Amino acid sequence: MCGIVGICGKVLKLTQAQSLLQLLVHRGQDASGLAWIDETGKHCLAKVKGQPIQIPLPEVNSRYILGSTRYPTYGNRNGNVPVEKFAQPFSVETRLGQLTICHNGQIANIRKFSKHEFHSDAEFIANLLGEFIDNGNDLVMASKKLMDILDGAYSITGFLGHTFFGIRDPRGIRPMVYGFHDGFAVIASESLVLQQAGMPEIKEMPPGGLLIFDEDELTIQQLVKTEKRPCMFEYVYFASAASEINERSVYETRLRLGELLGDQIRNAGIEADAVVPVPDTSRTASQTLSEKLGIPLRDAILKNRSSMRTFIMPAEDERLAAAKSKYLFIEGMIKGKRLLLVDDSIIRGLTLKYLISLLRQKGATEIHVAITNPPTRYPCYYGVDFTTKKELIASQKSVEEIRREIGADSLTYLTHENLKRAIDLPELCMACIDGNYPTPFGQHLKRLLEEGMILETMTHYESDEIIEVALAKEE
Ligand code: SF4
Repeated sequence: MCGIVGICGKVLKLTQAQSLLQLLVHRGQDASGLAWIDETGKHCLAKVKGQPIQIPLPEVNSRYILGSTRYPTYGNRNGNVPVEKFAQPFSVETRLGQLTICHNGQIANIRKFSKHEFHSDAEFIANLLGEFIDNGNDLVMASKKLMDILDGAYSITGFLGHTFFGIRDPRGIRPMVYGFHDGFAVIASESLVLQQAGMPEIKEMPPGGLLIFDEDELTIQQLVKTEKRPCMFEYVYFASAASEINERSVYETRLRLGELLGDQIRNAGIEADAVVPVPDTSRTASQTLSEKLGIPLRDAILKNRSSMRTFIMPAEDERLAAAKSKYLFIEGMIKGKRLLLVDDSIIRGLTLKYLISLLRQKGATEIHVAITNPPTRYPCYYGVDFTTKKELIASQKSVEEIRREIGADSLTYLTHENLKRAIDLPELCMACIDGNYPTPFGQHLKRLLEEGMILETMTHYESDEIIEVALAKEE
C-alpha cells in the first residue's frame, strides 16, 4: 500500500505539494518522494527514507508535481538499498519524452514478465509502460497494453513529457479519486487530499479508466470494463476516516461496523465495564459499539503520538519494539475492571497478546476482545503486507485457539455478512478472509499454495525457481 498524489495546471510551491502528500502518511511511511517538471521540461526527483515532510526540496514552483508515500510489499525489505532505487516516483526516458510515475497497489504476476530484480512495482511499471511507448504506441495504446497483461492492483498517476495522466486497474482494487476545476487537476489515493486542495467536486476514477489532462483539456476513457472489486480492508483499517472511497464515507462505514459488532456482542451475552479501543483506527467503531451496548467508552489505552503505525512496518522485530513504545495506559481505567477491547483486525496476534498481558498485570479482571473484521486467513497479493499464509494466525488456528493464544476471556470477530452490510457495496475484494481472489493470477497463486508449490512461508515474489516451475506446469 502506498499513497499517491498528482497535481497539474496550477503553479504550486513544492512545499505546498509536500503538505498535501503528508496527508497520506497513514498509507506509508517507509519512504517518500516528489517529482516535478522544471522550466526546462526536465523531470526532477527528490526522495527520502521517511515521511514527506523530511524530503529535502529546493525553493521551486511547478505546475506539474507528483508525490508518493511508500509502504513496502516488494523490494528493499532488508533496508540495504539506497533510497533512490526503491522509493517512488520512478522516471524513464521514452521516444515521447520523459515518463515519470507513482503507483499504489501490487502487481500479482510481476514474476511472469521480469527476471530483473526491481526494487519496486512502480519501477517495473515505469519500465514496461516506457517499453510499450518506445515500441510505437501512444499513451492510450500503451495503457491498454498494460491493463491487458498486468494482474493485480494499480492506481497510477504520472507525466509523459508534460501530459498528465492517471490509470486505475480494471477492478479498482485500490482507491483513486480526481478533481478538476478551473484548469487545475488533482489525482490522489484518497479524497481528503482533494478536499485540502480545495477541489469543489471529487470524483471516483473509473476502474479500467485512463485520465489524460493535456492542453487544458481533461478526458477519461474506459479502456477495460470488468467487475469492480474494491478492497474491503481500506474501510476497516487502511484509509483515513476523513476520506470517501467508492462514494462511501470511511468514517460512517466504521460507525456501522461498530453497531453491527455491538449486536453480535450483545447476542453472545458478553458483559463489560468499559469499551476500550485499541488506538487509533478502531476508535470510530468503538463509539457505536459502546452506544449499542450501553457500556461507556473509555480511552484506557492511549497512543504515544510520536510512535508510528506498527502494522505498516516491514519487519517483525521493528513491529514489536514499536508496539512497546506505542501505547500509554490510564491505570485508573484498568484496575478491577472488565474490559471490552476493540481492534480492527488480528494479523499476527502479537500486539494484542502483548497488550492483554500488560492489561492483566495492571489489574484488569476480565478482557474480552471484539474485532471489526472477520478472521484474516489468506495472503494479500494486492498491496497489503501479509503476503505469506504462515504469518496469519487465523490461517493456522481456530478462533478458540487464537483466543487462548492472545490470552483473552472471549474473542468475537465481525461476521462476513455484517462486514458486507456495513460497507454496502455490491462487490468487494474480501480475498484475505474468504480466499475468493478477484483476479485470475490471484486465483492461480491460491491454487499453487494449496498444491504446496508455494510454501506457506513464502511470498509469491520469492523463490523464482519454484514459482517458475509452477507457472510452466500451469501453462
Ligand atoms: Fe484488500 Fe484483503 Fe483483497 Fe488484499 S486480499 S486487496 S487486503 S480485501
